[in-house]
Amino acid sequence: MQLRWLPVFLVFFSLGVSARSSFGFELKTQYATIIYEREELLRKFNKEISLGSLSYLMRHKKSVTADDEIRNKLDVIVERVEAILDMFPGDLKFRIVLLSSESEVQRIYKMRYGTAADYIAFYAPKDKTLYISVDDIRLGVLAHELTHAVLDHYFGVSPPVKVHEVLAQFVETQLKD
Ligand SMILES: [Zn+2]
Repeated sequence: MQLRWLPVFLVFFSLGVSARSSFGFELKTQYATIIYEREELLRKFNKEISLGSLSYLMRHKKSVTADDEIRNKLDVIVERVEAILDMFPGDLKFRIVLLSSESEVQRIYKMRYGTAADYIAFYAPKDKTLYISVDDIRLGVLAHELTHAVLDHYFGVSPPVKVHEVLAQFVETQLKD
């Protein structure tokens, strides 16, 4: 009998922190749903994304919990990327899947597209999902991938890959930590 309470407790506990999804847990921000299998992936993501000189953007944000901090940080970076591009798509919503390593990212890329790539992160426009390795993530890399998401939402017809890349690299250099 005792044991029957354990799963119930776990379900309630995880609902309190973040909702369960088929991929694991999720944390919703204004623009993104961050999906991760284990809590440590989210903590690492938070640790590796350092705002540096952009910290002032957080000054009016209230962060009580670590989850608040991650939400605020992500949204502040998204808005920074939009400001650099001067593009503010009204319906910006996408998913970010946190993975433990670049080999995980590459495994998913291979599964989706059937070709190998040495990416540490990529944005899949079809399902509006960004896959990133928390082992390799940095502010610049995140800003680069967010640029792909913003461009994808801004243009009805997506611009050529080269235009995507030039703009993503431009934003990346603007936000490099
Ligand atoms: Zn790119």
